[in-house]
Amino acid sequence: MKSRSVFIGTVSDYFDCLVFDDWVMKANLSADVYQSLRKTIDQGARLDISVANAVAAAMKDWAVANGATHYTHWFQPLTGITAEKHDSFISPAPDGGVIMDFSGKELIKGEPDASSFPSGGLRATFEARGYTAWDPTSYAFIKGKTLCIPTAFCSYGGEALDKKTLLLRSMEALNRQAMRILKLFGNEEVKCVRTSVGPEQEYFLIPRELYEKRKDLIYTGRTLFGARPPKGQEMDDHYFGVIKPRVAAYMADLNEELWKLGILAKTEHNEVAPAQHELAPIYSTTNIATDHNQLTMKIMQKVAAKHGLVCLLHEKPFAGVNGSGKHNNWSISTDTGVNLLSPGETPYENAQFLLFLCAVIKAVDDYQDLLRISVATAGNDHRLGANEAPPAVVSIFLGDELQGILDAIENDTPYEATRKKTMKLGVDVLPRFARDATDRNRTSPFAFTGNKFEFRMLGSANSIACANIMLNAAVAESLKIYADRLEGAEDFEGRLHEMIQKTIRDHKRIIFNGNGYDDTWLEEAARRGLSNYPTTPDCIPHIMDGKNVQMLTAHKVFSEAELRSRCEILLENYCKTVIIEANTMTDMARKQILPAVQGYTAELADGVAAKKAVSADIACGYESGLIARLSLLTDQIASKTDELEAAVLELKGAVDVTQEACAIRDAVIGKMAALRTVADEAETLTAERYWPFPTYGELLFGVR
Ligand code: ADP
Ligand code: MG
Repeated sequence: MKSRSVFIGTVSDYFDCLVFDDWVMKANLSADVYQSLRKTIDQGARLDISVANAVAAAMKDWAVANGATHYTHWFQPLTGITAEKHDSFISPAPDGGVIMDFSGKELIKGEPDASSFPSGGLRATFEARGYTAWDPTSYAFIKGKTLCIPTAFCSYGGEALDKKTLLLRSMEALNRQAMRILKLFGNEEVKCVRTSVGPEQEYFLIPRELYEKRKDLIYTGRTLFGARPPKGQEMDDHYFGVIKPRVAAYMADLNEELWKLGILAKTEHNEVAPAQHELAPIYSTTNIATDHNQLTMKIMQKVAAKHGLVCLLHEKPFAGVNGSGKHNNWSISTDTGVNLLSPGETPYENAQFLLFLCAVIKAVDDYQDLLRISVATAGNDHRLGANEAPPAVVSIFLGDELQGILDAIENDTPYEATRKKTMKLGVDVLPRFARDATDRNRTSPFAFTGNKFEFRMLGSANSIACANIMLNAAVAESLKIYADRLEGAEDFEGRLHEMIQKTIRDHKRIIFNGNGYDDTWLEEAARRGLSNYPTTPDCIPHIMDGKNVQMLTAHKVFSEAELRSRCEILLENYCKTVIIEANTMTDMARKQILPAVQGYTAELADGVAAKKAVSADIACGYESGLIARLSLLTDQIASKTDELEAAVLELKGAVDVTQEACAIRDAVIGKMAALRTVADEAETLTAERYWPFPTYGELLFGVR
């Protein structure tokens, strides 16, 4: 194996060392094989089986030399996490021993038993066969003792059973349409257009020994009970604060693990809530960023275990404390390195920039529902609209300067008072605007930040695939409409100007530069006709709205059957999540909370009896009052637990998953909240030594 110590410094010694990347390929493949593989990676050319065999052999040798004994086709089923089934490289040798073997066929295609993964009706369980197909655009890597080969996962009939296939299709759709536009602007040398993403990942770290004492964290990833601690996040002393030594050690270890896998972990800091932190990598091509984010989430949890910690990725682990999101920083660029969302130097480049900007504005307005759907989960419902994260209404923030430019175009007025001429695209050079000035608004769900858009509605546990699939597809649709109109236009510049102006006029309702956390915005948004789907059951069924099916199938991102299956799976997921939470609450209330409160009440009563035995005249006002309050709360906890249980049982009567999800939203969620209210009140009144699990204070301030 070639060593990388030619680079300076220790990180570069091991950076990417567990990845079968371009560098390793070049070093370990013949020139011919390398060239063919590159063609497949860069241009999607078909892979010859002899090339696959050579790549497989080199991959195996490299993996074995790095300690691997197994390989797996690593894929992202619709559960939203990653799946793997390990096979060892060993193969019987004629002399009775074993050899390490791995063929091109095994590299290209796998056949995991797919019956236990959700398919939303796409594949009856008796047709258990599903295929995984190698995605050569995302490098293979070693995790533990296993060579992981990123793959797409589809059914026997060719329908996608995963997120990666759809993501790749959406990237291709956007590429197709963006190339048409670039040709119109005379860009002949560009071979392809790709989207890039830098996802900022938020998470909580809590001590493992405390986590293990809480059934709610173990079963659901979030606390279902818990009174507010005396101190929360009100002092704002955690955000960007000094990182505690134990957390710093965790972050250092995490970085090292990520760097070995070629993940460009770059920024880390404390977040708003106590025990909350953030990690951001340097952005990369969307497909790779998606794989890397999935790996990052897994590794965050694995490294936490090593440090006696637990990494919580749930969107709302603690009520009343900031939740965790994921910011999807997204841009479009050419293979020649031009960021199409960055204003350029020449009039033409600027017109091109404005056209792409308008394509995004139009896409976000036309498909605001799809963007909302792409981040909808039971977990994220606790965050969106809860006055800390963006509201459930999608809107775009552009900033004053860009807004000024769009206003000038819309109204045919001069951009600056000093300018005489009105803005005509292709003639005027856009005035330069400072990038920093565009990122002042942290409350917008979809903010332009100088050369990229930041989509902030994603939940911390979401796969970024979904949001990017919808975003890419919707922008592809805008670009298609533009390209259809521009191709064959006699007066290109005139048509361009007219189209940009029309987009601004038709879609300005989606632009909102004010405070997205403000309640008056929701009223204003309703007046503008923007959709507002506060919960998952509210929005998911809209996947099947005619315009959405039409657009997504026209660009070949989804088939109609695939869309129906997504709708089904997302609702099913929602139902399962909330039912597990409700059952966990019932269990905790009956087996832990009620006995604790009752035990303390009994102790108080014993105390009163003991006092009264000394003298009937001794005052017991404090105890008696407390006993009365606790007894009332005990009854309330018991009855609210029964009501919750009954509501869950009633769900069995639902005719389908949509009805079940709506019943959960209307009849279960409220009962969970009601039970929690009385249980949390009881916590504040019960002696600490009786309380059966760690409190918010201990969980949030336990890592020192
Ligand atoms: P902030 O918290 O101010 O939003 P961060 O530095 O935490 O900024 O995160 C910004 C993210 O945006 C990083 O992941 C970064 O790599 C990514 N990013 C920067 N430029 C681009 C771009 N052109 N396209 C996509 N992502 C980008
Ligand atoms: Mg950000």
